[in-house]
Amino acid sequence: MASTARLYDLQALDLEIAAKSQTLQDVEGRLGESAALREAREALAAAQGVLKEAESHRRDLEMELEDMSARLAPLEKKLYGGSVRIPKELVDLQSEVSHLKSLTGQREDTLLESMEAADAARQRVKAAEAALAEAEAAWRQEQAELQRQQRALGAELEALQAQRQERAAALDPRSLRLYEDLRAVKQGRAVAMVARGVCQVCRVSLSMTEVQRARSGTETVTCSSCGRILHVA
Ligand SMILES: [Zn+2]
Repeated sequence: MASTARLYDLQALDLEIAAKSQTLQDVEGRLGESAALREAREALAAAQGVLKEAESHRRDLEMELEDMSARLAPLEKKLYGGSVRIPKELVDLQSEVSHLKSLTGQREDTLLESMEAADAARQRVKAAEAALAEAEAAWRQEQAELQRQQRALGAELEALQAQRQERAAALDPRSLRLYEDLRAVKQGRAVAMVARGVCQVCRVSLSMTEVQRARSGTETVTCSSCGRILHVA
């Protein structure tokens, strides 16, 4: 096999290794917590916060109502018990009782609203819990698949690397060095195929002499335009 053909094969292998390494990197980048999972957790935490607030508000109102009813009971007992006889005192007492009753009515309305708000918040917590469970299930499935891909790609890359070492060892050190130097500056494409006298990478027409020299395979000829090693199939 001509040395340029070996270099071309090595390049094909190197490109495959590079592509697989990139895929492995992408796979590894997706391992771990996902944005969807984080968002679902945050949504649940936010809903729980709202519920906690709504329940605390409801408890405050209930305590306030208990307190009012404790104040109202003795006043009503006094008002209807017949112990107060002075009209001015009776009027004052009546006004206090009616004020407290009206306040109680207002607080009861607020309590009802607050209970409805707490119920709605509880529903939202339930929905957020369900969404999180769903996100977690999807995430676990995705992670298992990614781990499987990671293992497969790792094994494939190991095999390719071994193959690469073998191919590189079979090359003469000078062309290998030229290949490596060019590969570093030519985005991984150090070898260009020649078809119908045209360099297939830079698309420049080569002279007959260049093509003949490249075809002989006895020396390494580079493209006069892009500088890549020419390989005539
Ligand atoms: Zn070229």
